This record gives sequence, C-alpha cells and structure tokens, in this order.
Amino acid sequence: MSNLIEVKNLKKYFSTPKGELHAVDNVTLNIEKGKTIGVVGESGCGKSTLGKTLMRLHTPTSGEILYNGTDIANMTMKEFKKTYRANIQMIFQDPYASLDPRMNVLQLIEEPIKVNSKNLSKAEVTSKAKEMMDLVGLAKRLEGSYPHELDGGRRQRIGIARALSLDPDFIVCDEPVSALDVSIQAQILNLLQDLQKERNLTYMFITHDMSVVKHISDDIAVMYLGQMIEKSPAKEIFRETIHPYSQALLSAIPVPNVHIKKERMILKGELTSPINPKKCCRFAARCPYATEECSAKEPQLREIRPNHFVACHYAEKFVNKA
Ligand code: SF4
Repeated sequence: MSNLIEVKNLKKYFSTPKGELHAVDNVTLNIEKGKTIGVVGESGCGKSTLGKTLMRLHTPTSGEILYNGTDIANMTMKEFKKTYRANIQMIFQDPYASLDPRMNVLQLIEEPIKVNSKNLSKAEVTSKAKEMMDLVGLAKRLEGSYPHELDGGRRQRIGIARALSLDPDFIVCDEPVSALDVSIQAQILNLLQDLQKERNLTYMFITHDMSVVKHISDDIAVMYLGQMIEKSPAKEIFRETIHPYSQALLSAIPVPNVHIKKERMILKGELTSPINPKKCCRFAARCPYATEECSAKEPQLREIRPNHFVACHYAEKFVNKA
C-alpha cells in the first residue's frame, strides 16, 4: 500500500532566552493510506509539536512533509491553506477548550464548513452539518445544545464531526480520549475505528498512554525528548520491546488480572534539557544500562529486526530481554 504521509528529517526548534529548544529533532516516519500510527511518549517529548507541525500549525525549522508525494512543509501558508488545509485535520485533547461556548452544536459543526466551503449555500452548510452529527452519533435533539450542557464524550463527538466535515484524508488525533472517563474512551476509540474503515482515513494517534494505542495502531513510534527512539509494527513492539525507555513505558500498562504480578520499571534520574542538547543519548541520565559511550555519542535509529527501528547503542543486547 502507498504512503499518504512521509516525514523526512523533520525538525522544529523554538528560540528561548536560554537557547534553542529542540522540540522535534530529525524525525523520519511514513504513514500508509488507511492506517494508524500511534505516537507515544511522556509530556514534553515533542509528540504534540510533531502533530501540529504536520498540520502546519507550526512552521517546520527544516525537513520535509510529503503528503501524497507533495512537500507541504516548504510551501507558503497561503498555498497550504488553499490546497491542503481541508485534507489534514486535527482532533484536540480537550474538546471543551476547543469549542466556542457561545455556539450550539449545529453552529459549531457548521463553522468549519462555512469557512472552508464558501461556494455552499446556507441550506447546504446546515444539511452537511446535520449529516456529520448523524455520522458521529449525535442525536438530532442536541442540535440546539451548548457545550456546557453536554458530557465529555458528546463534546469530543462534536470535535470529530468538525474535523470530518471537510472530508479529510489524514487526521492528527492529539490525546483525543485522555480527558474522558474510561467507558467513554472506549466509545470514542470505537467510533474513530469505524470511521476509519468507512472513509479510509489515515490517523496519527498521539498519546502518553501505551494501553490506549495498543488496539488502535498499526505502527507505533516512541518519542523521547524530541527524537524518535523506537518504531515498529504495533504487534511487534508489544511482543518485543527493545529500547529501555519503551520497556519502561510498557511496564506501566496495568494487567487486568489480580493473579498476575507485573514488575513496573521505575525510571530514576533527571530529564536531560531539550535546550541545546549535547550529542549523546538523551535518555542516558535515566537509563539503567547507560555507559560512557552513551554520554559521548548519539545513537542513530537502526533497523534491528525487519521493520523494527531502535536508537540505542546496545539495542542488539536488549532483543529478547523484554
Ligand atoms: Fe540506554 Fe545507552 Fe541505549 Fe541510551 S544508548 S538507551 S543510555 S543503553
């Protein structure tokens, strides 16, 4: 299958009074059409900045973002908005914060359609918004309701309807269920999966929670301090986690069986600063296996097993260790 998105050596740095913050540093990945890549890592690892940079909400510092083979990273914002904005959409973490409290459900879903489809009549805009409500399972009786009158799940359905209203191919889902109760999380994940099958959507699913991406992702990329440190098909990474940081993330997934005791890997040590980082393994200060080489040389992402890439000097040693 062909790639819808190809990211090549993408960097997004921010200038701060203390120096350059390397929020996304040399990330390379592909996403096949109709598939989901889960991007995981703790707060501040750059996963949301990566998603926003793909959306062109941040201008990339360097690198390429190929959408269907066309580089959207280096085109003008005017050209991007005119040609590609509708194709690439985002679902945000906090649906309440991303919705205008003065608008009702129908108006909220009509808004992006009005802005992006200026040739549609008022009746056509309303009809499309109602179609989207139906698609995401929002009952007709909620048309006049305001965000504060709805629960988190319904508010997130509005966010999904808004994103889908422009018929995108690619959706960046930025922690779309982390603000929701567990039972509602499952409903929203199922809805996203159903919509993907129905509309052949491609997702980047950003989360700090490995258990959330386990069932929804085809591939998983683990990020640490702006860099991608492990990437593989989802099934493979859960069967054989190689990078010590990914092992720690996976060890935090609870097991739904009181008779199984799972040892959690607790990380000690300080986070390395992402401002003007040294050329070394950025995980070295917290890695239980770090050596002098780790603090002196930056590990490169290497293919350790077919389609399984890891950035660790000793990756071969950790195969079969998880
Ligand atoms: Fe740990 Fe060294 Fe591997 Fe980094 S390169 S993950 S510090 S063993």
